[in-house]
Parts: sequence; C-alpha cells; structure tokens
Amino acid sequence: RLSERLPYAHDDEFGQLARVFNATFSRLEESFERLRRFTSDASHELRTPLTTLRSVGEVGLQKGLDAAALREVIASMLEEADRLTELVENLLTLSRAESGALKLNPEPSELGVLAAEVIEFLGVLAEEKEQTITLRASCAVPADIDRTTLRQALMNILDNAIKYAAPGTDIVVRTEVSGDEAVIEVEDAGPGIAQEHIAKVFDRFYRVDTGRSRDVGGTGLGLAIARWAVEMNGGRISLDSTPGKGSTFRITLPLGKV
Ligand code: ADP
Repeated sequence: RLSERLPYAHDDEFGQLARVFNATFSRLEESFERLRRFTSDASHELRTPLTTLRSVGEVGLQKGLDAAALREVIASMLEEADRLTELVENLLTLSRAESGALKLNPEPSELGVLAAEVIEFLGVLAEEKEQTITLRASCAVPADIDRTTLRQALMNILDNAIKYAAPGTDIVVRTEVSGDEAVIEVEDAGPGIAQEHIAKVFDRFYRVDTGRSRDVGGTGLGLAIARWAVEMNGGRISLDSTPGKGSTFRITLPLGKV
C-alpha cells in the first residue's frame, strides 16, 4: 500500500506544490483500491458459475448415461455458459463505466416513448409469467438524455420487476413531470425489499437473498449499472419498498425543454 506524503506544510510555492502532489496521490490510491476491489469481486463471482459448469461436466462423463440424461447435462451446461456470458458482459459495461471511457450522447427525448420501447422489448418475458405491464404517461416528459444508457437502466429495473414479482401480478410504469424534474417510476407487487437492504441493492454484486436471487438467475450487477447510467445522465435513482407488498424504483432527471 502506498502511503508516502509530502509533509511540507508551509504556505509558500513549495507548500502549494506539496498539496497538489498529496491530493493527486490520494486520488491515485483510491483508484488503485477501487481496481483491486473490482478485480477481487469479479474473480469471486466468476468462480461460482465456473465451478458449477465443471461439476455438471463431470456428471456428463459418468458411465451409463442414456441420451436423454446426456441432453439434460448439456442443457444445464449451456445455461451456465449463458450466465457466464451475461456476467462478463455486465462486468465489461461496469468497468467501462468506472474508467470513464464511455461517451454519452445526450439528445432531446420523451420519457414516455423510451418507456414504451423498453416495455415492448421485455413484454415477452412478462407474458411468459402472465404479468401485465401498464404504461401510465399522462403528459409528455421531455429530458435531454443519452438514450442507450438510460434504456439500459430502465431495462434492468423492469427486468427485475418481472423476475422477482410473482406470476400474474401487475407492473406499472409511470412517466411524469414533478416540479422541474422528469420522473420514471416502475412499481411492482413483488416480495419487496427490507429497509436495511434498500441503500445496498445498488452496490455491485449485492443480493438481498442469494437463494431467491440465484433461482431467478441474475448477476447482482443490474442495479449498479442502472445507478451509474442514471447518474451519468445527471439524475438519481431511489427505491421505496414495503416487504410483502412491492417495490417502486424511481428515476429522477432534469426536465428538458418541451
Ligand atoms: P440481480 O442480477 O441479482 O437481479 P440486481 O443488481 O439487479 O442483481 O439486484 C440486486 C438485488 O436486489 C437482487 O438480487 C434482489 O435481491 C433485489 N431486487 C432487485 N429488484 C427487485 C425487485 N423488483 N423486487 C424485489 N427484490 C429486488
């Protein structure tokens, strides 16, 4: 660990230089630490699906498996490979995000139109669970946003609502103007999230209930990516939830010109 600092505290030119040096040093130290944590989290998360892939493969090598059993083994290996792909793609998105290498392209947009696109895209998943997604867009909600990143944020939130809420439940997506802000809300009637987890669900790899989350797949990165995407667009993301009743995720952005 680096810990060198210039201990020069006088207020002359050299003192000013020392302050700049020390501040730069602290920032460097922080980025090293972020990188170290990122690498260690990522390796840890990659190990689990790899271990599963390996043990399923070993089952496939056992003698005397009939064709149907072998197909089942191959199917679960493919499923695990898909999980790995999703994880790696999400990791790449986050690492690009954290390095600041992603360039945004803000354009005047209407949030109702963006929401409708995302609902259309994820509609099939909701249909499979016999859930209905209702869009409530009472007026035009203009915002200058980078559509690619914001679409991704909304997609991750809506995908969670579909994943975690029970079959047959209703999901409501609302777009509205609130004061000088543009708002998108996604409300589900799912299991909800307890108060003590609310601030943490936006941290990468954080899952409330690993058993439940593992059943429905997922990488624990969806909300971390969503938060990053919203903040990059000058907005913020919040969550209001009652366990047993449901969750409402809220994206707030600066209102654009009509
Ligand atoms: P994951 O890939 O596990 O879904 P996310 O970052 O998208 O990761 O979400 C983090 C955790 O927050 C999830 O594992 C789940 O426990 C919880 N969560 C997210 N969305 C919801 C929701 N709509 N209802 C209940 N729990 C949720």
